[in-house]
Amino acid sequence: MFENLSERLSGVFDRLTKQGALSEEDVKTALREVRVALLEADVSLPVARDFVKAVQEKATGQAVTKSITPGQQVVKIVHDALIDVLKGEGEPGTLKVDNPPASVLMVGLQGSGKTTTTAKLAKRLKEKDGKRVLMASLDVNRPAAMEQLAILGAQIGVDTLPIIAGQDPVAIAKRAKTQAGLGGYDVYMLDTAGRLSIDEELMQQVEAVRDVASPRETLLVVDGLTGQDAVHTAQNFDERIGISGVVLTRMDGDGRGGAALSMRAVTGKPIKFVGLGEKMDALETFEPDRVAGRILGMGDIVALVEKAQETLELEQSEKMVKRMMKGHFTMNDLRMQLEQMQKMGGMQGMMGMMPGMGKMAKQVEDAGFDDNILKRQIALIQSMTKKERANPQILQASRKKRIAKGAGLEVSELNKLLKMHRQMGDMMKKMGKMGKGGMMKQAMK
Ligand code: GDP
Repeated sequence: MFENLSERLSGVFDRLTKQGALSEEDVKTALREVRVALLEADVSLPVARDFVKAVQEKATGQAVTKSITPGQQVVKIVHDALIDVLKGEGEPGTLKVDNPPASVLMVGLQGSGKTTTTAKLAKRLKEKDGKRVLMASLDVNRPAAMEQLAILGAQIGVDTLPIIAGQDPVAIAKRAKTQAGLGGYDVYMLDTAGRLSIDEELMQQVEAVRDVASPRETLLVVDGLTGQDAVHTAQNFDERIGISGVVLTRMDGDGRGGAALSMRAVTGKPIKFVGLGEKMDALETFEPDRVAGRILGMGDIVALVEKAQETLELEQSEKMVKRMMKGHFTMNDLRMQLEQMQKMGGMQGMMGMMPGMGKMAKQVEDAGFDDNILKRQIALIQSMTKKERANPQILQASRKKRIAKGAGLEVSELNKLLKMHRQMGDMMKKMGKMGKGGMMKQAMK
């Protein structure tokens, strides 16, 4: 799910992360594309507009110097803003079903996946929460739908209210309530009738059932593939019936995930679950941060930034970067970097978090670069004198031997470390020059 939106956005951020510093103009350009991407993903215009505005305010307010990479900083801001929109109050994936018998009213249009979702939820309540559940179908116009629920109930081992021909939905709801009380059920779920589109008769019927059952939860089931229509449906049901949450079905398809975003923003109601297939297990808790991550398509870059912010002492590292850009890159600097890598979960940990680097982490492992290397390299640097650390060029063969021995390692390993240090130093010098050139160009504009 969310492929389209995520591809668009990663295109935007690719461009962003390649740039050095982030100007206000950069933020604006990037966010303009974010907005287009959101609209293409079927997010409604007012929602997209509000979203971009919120991000713009946050991004502009934040000191760019604070970030490790400006692009990553913006990714984090967009990510957090997505979560803000997506998350609802309360624990995701939980239903208020204390004080038995608690009723759960399932509403939605025909074909949205309402009956399937009722059974999936019943199974979840039974297996995860240890609840005794009774299900009842109120779809008196479609005997097949009533039978479908009974079949699913038998399949998952959840009782269904016996079907009595000729009863109207309100009578069935009353019977379910009584039966739930007498039978010692914790929860009774009412699968209301759906229509192909919203009409007055449907709404009146659901209202009448609601008034009988006083549901603890009223869950709207909507087909995630229907985009903007899904949002309108949600708005209508919420205005008339008052919903407590949404279940988005068919999120296993290639739907435009924008519906989730709009739905939240427009109704203000939490998306509690997502349906990911026809099977009875294909129901998952709606996880705003996971969904936001997927929308961004940036791997766990956000987690990486958070970790980096935790572990890096910003000022210290800023000073270090400035020094390094001028070509003063000492063994102590290298040691600090190696130690930070260690804190961030080593080479594999870091690569696993970077988009597209998951495969490389495996290669690194296969090539024998385990995290013990970090430890050994740090040990080598620790065996050097202060003078040698500041200026490793002075190392003679005899000293090299002694240092390697001090760390319990071969000289070849020390040579590798020195080479790495030289290469890194050269690279930083180059980057420093590029940075200056870039800034000069900016100033001349
Ligand atoms: P209702 O008319 O709203 O009760 O809809 P149903 O529960 O009968 O579902 C209609 C069809 O959608 C059935 O074939 C279900 O198996 C299918 N369906 C329901 N939820 C999902 C889902 O999350 N993913 C997929 N792929 N199919 C689903």
